[in-house]
Amino acid sequence: MTFAIHGLAVSRGVAIGRAVVVASSRMEVVHYFIRPDQVESEIQRARTARNAVIDELRRLQEEMPKDAPGELDALLDVHLMLLQDQALAEAIRNWISERLYNAEWALTTQLEIVSRQFDEMDDEYLRERKADLEQVVERILRHMKGAASPLAQVAPPLSPTGAAPATDGQQLPLDVTTETPLVLVAQDLSPADMLQFKSKVFAGFITAVGGKTSHTAIVARSMDIPAVVGARAASQLIRQDDWVIIDGNEGVVIVDPTPIILAEYSFRQRQTELERERLTRLRYTPSLTMDGQKVELLANIEQPSDGAAAVRAGAVGVGLFRTEFLFMGRSGNLPGEEEQYRAYREAIDGMQGMPVTIRTLDVGADKPLDKAQPKDYYLNPALGLRAIRWSLADPVMFRTQLRAVLRAAAHGQIKLLFPMLAHRSEIEQTLAQLRQAQHELDVRGVAYGPVKLGAMIEIPAAALTVRSFLQYFDFLSIGTNDLIQYTLAIDRADETVAHLYDPMHPAVLRLVAEVIAAANAAGKEVSVCGEMAGDLSMTRLLLGLGLRSFSMHPAQILAVKQEVLRADSSKLAPWAAEVLGSECPAQMLAP
Ligand code: PEP
Ligand code: MG
Repeated sequence: MTFAIHGLAVSRGVAIGRAVVVASSRMEVVHYFIRPDQVESEIQRARTARNAVIDELRRLQEEMPKDAPGELDALLDVHLMLLQDQALAEAIRNWISERLYNAEWALTTQLEIVSRQFDEMDDEYLRERKADLEQVVERILRHMKGAASPLAQVAPPLSPTGAAPATDGQQLPLDVTTETPLVLVAQDLSPADMLQFKSKVFAGFITAVGGKTSHTAIVARSMDIPAVVGARAASQLIRQDDWVIIDGNEGVVIVDPTPIILAEYSFRQRQTELERERLTRLRYTPSLTMDGQKVELLANIEQPSDGAAAVRAGAVGVGLFRTEFLFMGRSGNLPGEEEQYRAYREAIDGMQGMPVTIRTLDVGADKPLDKAQPKDYYLNPALGLRAIRWSLADPVMFRTQLRAVLRAAAHGQIKLLFPMLAHRSEIEQTLAQLRQAQHELDVRGVAYGPVKLGAMIEIPAAALTVRSFLQYFDFLSIGTNDLIQYTLAIDRADETVAHLYDPMHPAVLRLVAEVIAAANAAGKEVSVCGEMAGDLSMTRLLLGLGLRSFSMHPAQILAVKQEVLRADSSKLAPWAAEVLGSECPAQMLAP
């Protein structure tokens, strides 16, 4: 039966495919694809674990004290029967051989399907056998965990419900091929999970939680695949293998579509592709407004290798390299100076001489480093030890990053950007750490290069005291994602308040406008690197406010360039002033 689920549109386009539902088992389970030549050994691994559990239960039965209640023996019989069920074994084999799921994923997928069948049974006794099946599966999973697949070392897991993966964020194997496009459905995905999809195994994704500028949504946009987050019941209502349409423009998910609906969305999908193809013609067109104002369009990247996509999209540099993605999901084994240096060099080399803005580590809140920092560890993560606060609390780690950046700067233009500064004391401590890092390199006799220094303006306090930032820094970058979050007191990752997360709120616009004006007046560079920079409905307003540098996901650059080419900044300035004075700016933006 066809039905629709509404969520938040976070990444544009239409995806049509079969659902891969990441089951939320009570046990933590790794999810990854295996290679076709690993199918037999993976099936064997599942079989071995199952046999081990059978042996275990038989031993328990044999050793059972004579006076043990009879029900216990009967229960073990039920468990043994479930374990030896051929249909279950067959289904698990199929998930492994046909979908290339790892054994744990195959097992939990089948558990989910059978659980639903149990739920639908009329007979109460049979319905209750679901719990037995869950217990049996958990026993098998526990066995597998004890004898983890050696494959887990080469293929990174896709972790359940928002926890970061246990390996160091390598890519899912590229050689996974399925005839049908797949879309991923999960309760939640961590930003680190999302990074694994860069290999484009999935045509789109749906999560039950998350806000428009949650980091998970940001990574989806950077990958340029259709996505809907905050589709609350998605992981309960969508079943394994259901046909699903993701409308990333409207934030709607259509499950089990009729042929007519499918034809309509296939048409829309083709239209989007044509529009993208058309935009590629603008790649080498200089980014100038109609009245000749030069506008710098930069890329936001998460991985050093993203530079290639940035160059392809016509970016003239990287305006934000979110380095925290190098640090995520590594179980505390953080990258050292050498590894970071190589990563930053790779980013510079990829940008072919164009400037790269490297932002120091911004972890915390909805970007946990790994499972060691569960989401609820801090009382209020968005207001807690995050970004520069984290770095200043761990100066050894901070200076390791600073040294790596300084060394990379000997090989290309690097701008160094610090996130979430608010206090003058934080600025001074940060600069002292930088001097110390330079000194450490001097002592070691290691070469390093000059860097321009920048501050992110993403806390209202920083925006309101922007002039003092201008005394210390060469450039500013406005992080509108956090600026909106902190100005409006809206958790950017919380879908229940997503409707109040408003980039057009007069207070937000006023702060953005003041920062741009102050930087322009001081002759310092200023850019916007939050999602607002890639939002086409905001381009003309930002140009009118005097912004000449925008940093966004590579996928958005050409569409923004088209807006720039059509804009006349001399006419936009007085209009922007009116918008700023309005009590309802959103109405004035309507086309
Ligand atoms: C921002 O806050 O706008 C920003 C660009 O940084 P991040 O999204 O990584 O917090
Ligand atoms: Mg931020």
